Amino acid sequence: MKIEVRVCDVCKDPTLQVATYTVSVGDKTGTTDRCGPHGAELKAIAEGTPPPRPRPRRRGSRVASMDEVEAARVPNER
Ligand SMILES: [Zn+2]
Repeated sequence: MKIEVRVCDVCKDPTLQVATYTVSVGDKTGTTDRCGPHGAELKAIAEGTPPPRPRPRRRGSRVASMDEVEAARVPNER
């Protein structure tokens, strides 16, 4: 028995549904299969909608700068 599965060109996850996108640059054309997340940007372009924004960072989960880490570690040392 042989099963052929079309997978995303980026993550190659066989459990995800993929769509085939045709991309043209100048006179060159190629195709790429992409899952939902990896095809989101291409899909947005094809549909004429703004590309999805990068995942917003939740408040409180941002990375502290080294100065802030130092300040938190020695609060009242002088
Ligand atoms: Zn993918």
